[in-house]
Amino acid sequence: MELTFNPQNFSPEETQSGETKKEILDLFSVTDSSLLKARNETDRRVSEVINEFIGGSEVSTDVRLNDLLTNFCKSEIPDKPLNVDEYIAFFNKNIIRHSTRTSSPRYIGHMTSALPYFIKPLAGLIVTLNQNVVKAETAKVLTPYERQVIAMLHRAIYQFDSDFYNHHIQNRESVLGILTSGGTIANLTALWCARNSALGPCEGFNGVEKEGMDAALKFYGYKDAVIIGSAMMHYSFEKAADLLGIGSNNSIKIPVDKNNHIDLSELRKTVEECHRKRRLIIAIIANAGTTDCGAIDPIERVAEIAYKEGCHFHVDAAWGGPLLFSDKYRNRLKGIELADSVTIDGHKQLYLPMGLGMIFMRNPQAAKSIEKNSNYIIRRGSIDLGRRSLEGSRPAMSIYLHAALNIIAKGGYEFLINEGIKKAEYMAGLIKSMREFELLTEPDMNMLLYRFIPERLRGKAADHMLDDADNEVINKYNEQLQKLQRNGGYSFVSRTSFSSELYQNKSLVALRAVLANPLTCEANINEVINDQLNIAKRLNL
Ligand SMILES: *Cc1c(COP(=O)(O)O)cnc(C)c1O
Repeated sequence: MELTFNPQNFSPEETQSGETKKEILDLFSVTDSSLLKARNETDRRVSEVINEFIGGSEVSTDVRLNDLLTNFCKSEIPDKPLNVDEYIAFFNKNIIRHSTRTSSPRYIGHMTSALPYFIKPLAGLIVTLNQNVVKAETAKVLTPYERQVIAMLHRAIYQFDSDFYNHHIQNRESVLGILTSGGTIANLTALWCARNSALGPCEGFNGVEKEGMDAALKFYGYKDAVIIGSAMMHYSFEKAADLLGIGSNNSIKIPVDKNNHIDLSELRKTVEECHRKRRLIIAIIANAGTTDCGAIDPIERVAEIAYKEGCHFHVDAAWGGPLLFSDKYRNRLKGIELADSVTIDGHKQLYLPMGLGMIFMRNPQAAKSIEKNSNYIIRRGSIDLGRRSLEGSRPAMSIYLHAALNIIAKGGYEFLINEGIKKAEYMAGLIKSMREFELLTEPDMNMLLYRFIPERLRGKAADHMLDDADNEVINKYNEQLQKLQRNGGYSFVSRTSFSSELYQNKSLVALRAVLANPLTCEANINEVINDQLNIAKRLNL
C-alpha cells in the first residue's frame, strides 16, 4: 500500500503566536546573513566581558553568598521568550561579576586554576559540532580520535611497546581506557570492573553483574566484600562502595604515617585479616597525590601487597598523574605501571576545563566485565565507546585532551609540573622562616598544609609544647582566618582538617595551598601570606 500525503488532513494545532514561532526558529537558523551579523556582535560583547573578567586579579566580590540568594528565589518559568542580548545583560550583571575568579594568581586554594587560551575556541567547536561519543553513529571520526588520545596517555603510564599499541589502539575489542566526566566516575568505574571480575561468571554462576552481590558472595563463599586504601583516600571511594553494594562501612581506611603515606605494615595486617575472615578484597587503592595535601603513597610497595593477594590494584592519580610528564619527578610515581587501573583528571593538572576524567586499564580486556549492549544503540561487537562506560551520552571532551597533548605536549607539561613544585617549595620555605606560621606537611608535590599561630602561643609552638587546649584555640583561629580571607575576596587558600601525627593524631584545622596556577608567581604568594597577616591582626580570639 502506498502512503499518500494529503496536506488538508494534516494541520497541527496552532498554539503559538506567529511572533513566537519566528523568534524561536530564528534561534536555530544557521544561514540567515542578517542574523549572523547580529550574532557576531553578541559574540564580540560576550568576549569583551569575559576577557575583562579573566584579566582581573581579585578572587571574588566581597558580597556575601547569603545576600546573593535573594536574586534566585523565583521559580516560575517565563511564558514569553526573552531576547538573547537581554539575557546576556542579566548574566553579566548577576553572574559573571560574582563568579569565583579561579584564574586569579592569588587564588591558590583549590585544584581549579587558569586555563590555556585555546580552550575557548575549542569549547565553541565542541558544542557546535555537538557529537555524542556514546556511539559512532553520532560521533564518527571522534570515536577513533578518542581511542587515539586514550592510547597516548595509556602509553605514558604503562609504556608497553609499539606492537602492543598498534594492536590495541583501534581494536574494537580492546579498551585501553575510558573518558568520564571526572575522577569520581573514573574511580567508580575502576571498582566496578574490579568487582565484576572478582565475582565474575563461571560454571554454575552468572556473575555478580546478573545475580547481585548477595548471590555472588554466597556462591564464592565470602562473608562480605571490602575495598582498602589509606585514611586519606578520596571520598569518591565511599560513594563507589555504596553504589556497588559493598557498603561504605566496608571501605577500610588504613592509617597514614607522618608524611600522610599509607602505613604498609598496617596494610599487610589488614589484608591478612581479611583473608582469614573470608572477606573478599575487591581492590587495594594507592593515592598518587591525595586531595588534601598531595601525598603520594609508596605505590610500588602497595602493588606488591596487592599482587601477592591477587586482588585488583588501583592507583588514584586524579591529581598526581601528570607527574608522569616530568623527567625530574616521574620517579615519585614509580610502580604506577603495575596498576590494574589508574584514574587521572584532565580538569586538574592537565589544565583542561571541568568535566574531564579518565580511567586507564592495564589489561585491554578488563572492561569486558562491565560491557553492556542495547539493540537500538550500543550493538554487540560495534566500535561504540558507550559499550563500556557508566555514562551514556557524552560530549567530545577528548578534543581538549587531544589538542593539549599536541599543543602543550610532554615538554610543556613537564615545565608546568616542575614550576608548581618549585612554587610549593618556595612557599614552604617562606612559612618555615616565619614565626607566625607552622608548616604541617612538607609538600610531596605542589600542595601544602600550614597554619597561623597566634602570638601568645608561638613560643610553645617553636618548642613543640602545644597541648590539646592550645590546638583547639589555634583551630578556631585558623577557621576564622580562612573565612575572613575568603569573604574579603582579595586572595584565597582553602581549609581542611586532618589528624596530625605531629600532635598525637589530634584533629588540626589547616590552611591548604594548591600551587597549580601557571600565572601565580612568588610575589603573589607573598601577597597571599601578607593578606593573612593583615587579617590576623584584626582577629581577636
Ligand atoms: C579530585 C579527585 C578525585 C575526584 O575527582 P572529581 O573530578 O572531582 O570527580 C578523586 N581522587 C582524587 C585524588 C582527587 O584529587
